[in-house]
Amino acid sequence: MNEKMILISIDGMRPDGFTACGHPFSRELTEISSYTLNGRSVLPPVTLPCHTSMFYGIPPQRHGILSNVYTPPVRPVRGIAEQLNRAGKKCAAFYNWEPIRHIWQSETMKYTAYFNAYEEENSNRLLTEQLLKLLSCKAPDFLFLHLVETDEKGGHDHGWMSPEYLEQLRNALSCAEQIYRAAGQDYHLIITADHGGHERTHGEDCPEDMTIPMFFYGKSFEQGRKLENACLLNLTPTIAWLAGVPASREWEGNIIPHL
Ligand SMILES: [Zn+2]
Repeated sequence: MNEKMILISIDGMRPDGFTACGHPFSRELTEISSYTLNGRSVLPPVTLPCHTSMFYGIPPQRHGILSNVYTPPVRPVRGIAEQLNRAGKKCAAFYNWEPIRHIWQSETMKYTAYFNAYEEENSNRLLTEQLLKLLSCKAPDFLFLHLVETDEKGGHDHGWMSPEYLEQLRNALSCAEQIYRAAGQDYHLIITADHGGHERTHGEDCPEDMTIPMFFYGKSFEQGRKLENACLLNLTPTIAWLAGVPASREWEGNIIPHL
């Protein structure tokens, strides 16, 4: 395949929060995509370890990033950004949590945009505007959007499932919906969380932290199909499959339609 795609990570989005926030796009997403509300994160369910697994297709025990402090891998594995870049694909990343840039080699992203979530009132919105601009003028092959405000300004500041957290989820889903409507049939869209959360924290081996919603939209995915056994490690091989670039033998997950 030679498909273009957009990967959106809504940080700390719990499946029950996704449902309870009441955003109309929540229901539409379950109708138009292959999806799960019972996906699995990786241990520890912490932002940098989870996103490293999302891009490198291996669990934290293997890539060695076990906290939000980046350390260079002892035995590097080629990630999805490197595979796309080697195949000549144009990639772009939009993020509002600075350490996330460690999950790709800098030369692999042709375009990047960063806004500090605590310095801007609505950095999710600013990133979405930048993404939409790039989408219409350059139409890159792969766009990654990390929306951290649900986790930082929702979960950590006010508690998971608090009214403030649910409001942050609605904001993130509005961004995702706007991108979905702008991208049309030209792009596949993958929406996921990295981990969940409980009280005002996350990082434990409990269902609230480990369970995530995942959505796969586009002509390669059956609409309204509930996925069994989906997990974060499925993202890397699925993106490679859609883009038509070689998978690394190191990656552990399966391609989503084959679950
Ligand atoms: Zn996170």
